[in-house]
Amino acid sequence: MKLIFLGPPGAGKGTMAKRLASHGGMAHISTGDLFREAVAQGTDLGKQVKSILDRGDLVPDEVTVKLVQERIGRPDCRRGFILDGFPRTIPQAEALDRLSPPDLAVNFVLADDEVVKRLSGRRLCPSCGKTFHILFVPPRKPDICDGCGTGLVIRKDDQVEAIRNRLAVYKAQTEPLEAHYRDLGILRNIDAAPDPEKVFAALKTALGV
Ligand SMILES: [Zn+2]
Repeated sequence: MKLIFLGPPGAGKGTMAKRLASHGGMAHISTGDLFREAVAQGTDLGKQVKSILDRGDLVPDEVTVKLVQERIGRPDCRRGFILDGFPRTIPQAEALDRLSPPDLAVNFVLADDEVVKRLSGRRLCPSCGKTFHILFVPPRKPDICDGCGTGLVIRKDDQVEAIRNRLAVYKAQTEPLEAHYRDLGILRNIDAAPDPEKVFAALKTALGV
């Protein structure tokens, strides 16, 4: 089965992709991993990606598509794959339709306020790297690391303004993909608000696996 996972940051796409991939024997492909791998291998494409990322720019569609094309041609994709973080734009979706059309696009639906609640509660220990969540994984003492006693911090990406920003980018760029896959008749919505066990069960039901 060839799957695409859509949904806002914080909806748990990555976690679900990992679980489903090991459940169904499919390859889990995240574009973040692909970029890191290309940079680490130092191929021509990797060098290109590195200089783009170093400038803080977005990797252009044609570069991302090339990396995905190479990745989905590998043997571990013969039983299918889950694309997590791709396509992100309509041109990317159209390129994928030409290369290897997906069977289903799973859309993890989560309200904006819930996204903000999930992401803004994250806390990081700047000393030992341990992560917490004020609602879901609270430290024993407020804002203090259980492991080493250092004061916890909020990553820049997890501050409310940054989260609202990421959501706005997501809506502008990626929500048109919902319409694209709805028109193709392959969009499946999954409510991402319940706990992960329930979301995973709903996902398996929706896919019939
Ligand atoms: Zn610590």
